[in-house]
Amino acid sequence: METHREKNIIKIIMKMGVAGMAETGLSNQGEQEFGACEALSLSYEDWQEKVRAWNEPRFRADQITRWIYVQKVFDCHEMSNLSKGLREKISYELLMTLPILIQEQKSKDGTFKYLWQMADGQRVESVILNHGGYTTACLSSQVGCPLACSFCATGGMGFVRNLTSAEILGQFLMMERRAVELLTGKGNGINNVVFMGMGEPFLNMDDVFASIRTLQHPKMRALGARHITISTSGVIPGILALADFELPVRLSVSLHAPNDVLRSKLMPVNKTYSLSSLIEALRHYKEKTKERVTFEYVLIEGVNDDPQLAYEMAALLDGLEPYVNLIRYNPVPGKEAYKRSSETRVKAFCAALKELRIEFEVRQEKGTDIMAACGQLAVSANRK
Ligand code: SAH
Ligand code: SF4
Repeated sequence: METHREKNIIKIIMKMGVAGMAETGLSNQGEQEFGACEALSLSYEDWQEKVRAWNEPRFRADQITRWIYVQKVFDCHEMSNLSKGLREKISYELLMTLPILIQEQKSKDGTFKYLWQMADGQRVESVILNHGGYTTACLSSQVGCPLACSFCATGGMGFVRNLTSAEILGQFLMMERRAVELLTGKGNGINNVVFMGMGEPFLNMDDVFASIRTLQHPKMRALGARHITISTSGVIPGILALADFELPVRLSVSLHAPNDVLRSKLMPVNKTYSLSSLIEALRHYKEKTKERVTFEYVLIEGVNDDPQLAYEMAALLDGLEPYVNLIRYNPVPGKEAYKRSSETRVKAFCAALKELRIEFEVRQEKGTDIMAACGQLAVSANRK
């Protein structure tokens, strides 16, 4: 019987011809049922350890990580400044399983949505947004999501599994290579990363944090400190860990309702982490990191868009110097009861926030025509 990986390789050949083989990784010969190590899961320190074990000079680690994370060359046989012997060692010990591109869709506004297949056949979506000369990658952290927010397409598909750090980085690398090809051809890649795709990043902390360390490491992808945002539905252990680990990222909290009754209806996670405990954790986070927190608030007609709720929100967030991102609800098939707030109601909510001197913006929606906007990512089983 074919293994998953063999199936994937066959699909790549079918899709792209033999050249597509390189997509499957650093090594084809080196793959073994045991002992083979996933190259994208290696930290910079792991690479240093590897080259030491191979009796190679230290700078080899820099060369290899540059090939992968800067040049986006994934086949070690193409890493031309490495000796043949070293390429063979890499090829023997490591493999790189990049996500396979199943579908690419382009929106009218220049947003791209990608459907990826992982080595075990599971699929996730991720998005590239272009705005004001900057390119942002929206990454998934889980296949599905267990938190089942009532308005969210990902929540509606249930939870399958966490993504590994290699799978998270795989989405980024494949999209960056594509972004360079598609957008500029000048080598300008992705400027920002947001963990706002499928899944709750703080339910997959180890792998999300490992992928961020790689993206930020000066010898790996060297993405700037202020250029990565984690969005959470309010998973407190993640907020506390972020405060402790001194990982320089921005934090965004999906609030969507300023009281427990309404929030628990929309977001079952609120029954585990109530608003008062969430606010306490955020106060601790702010004190420890001196960072300002952004709050996301999706406006749903007649559900959470009464201006009175803006007043409740102001009282709840008092002292946190909040920045509020208002999101127009993006329609989700099967959730027709939820509708985007009318422009009159959006204006009324904004007017209340202004009066309360809460800083806010209404997020410009992107990619709705290809179901690539916030909360619209989902992979249905029958599309496999
Ligand atoms: N799980 C994380 C990150 C992914 S969702 C979180 O919930 O924060 C990214 C953002 O999209 C969240 O603020 C989420 O609440 C919001 N969202 C979900 N469904 C939406 C929809 N249909 N329309 C607009 N925003 C939505
Ligand atoms: Fe999960 Fe976020 Fe969707 Fe809620 S909004 S179901 S936490 S992905």
